[in-house]
Amino acid sequence: MFIAHLPAGYLLASAGESKVAPEDRRLIFWSILVGSIFPDLDMLYFYFVDGRQTHHHLYWPHLPVFWLVLLGAGSLVSVLLRKPRVTRAMLSLFAGVILHLVLDTPVGGIAWLYPYNSDLLYLIKVPAGRSWWVWNFILHWTFLLEIFICVAAFITWIRRRSHNAE
Ligand SMILES: [Zn+2]
Repeated sequence: MFIAHLPAGYLLASAGESKVAPEDRRLIFWSILVGSIFPDLDMLYFYFVDGRQTHHHLYWPHLPVFWLVLLGAGSLVSVLLRKPRVTRAMLSLFAGVILHLVLDTPVGGIAWLYPYNSDLLYLIKVPAGRSWWVWNFILHWTFLLEIFICVAAFITWIRRRSHNAE
């Protein structure tokens, strides 16, 4: 997925907002948004350090097992320290990250079975062939889903603005 991670995070954050206590709304909203784009920060490493030697979906920010271990350890610490707000922020960040990984799965592939198997599991093979690899994805029919998510997020943003203005 290229352009719809943040819009998808925005949709998820908006969908759950009414069920959250008012004092936690901003914290949870922003934690989901950050989580929804955080894994792609590894593109900086991919381009500027690794020299595009390894598929960036094999770096730790795109490995589900890393986040499960981090969530488990973080939850334990926050429960022991009795910091429920930290726990809620962590769970929200985790929800955003998992959304990112789920949306990366269909055409990009995610190593869901790592460390047992490091294959990137995907649903749809996007044929190569264009001079710039990004065009392979943008001109593939699956990109329509990204446009749909962006439009849905934009409509949600307009509705929230008009609702808040009332
Ligand atoms: Zn990604």
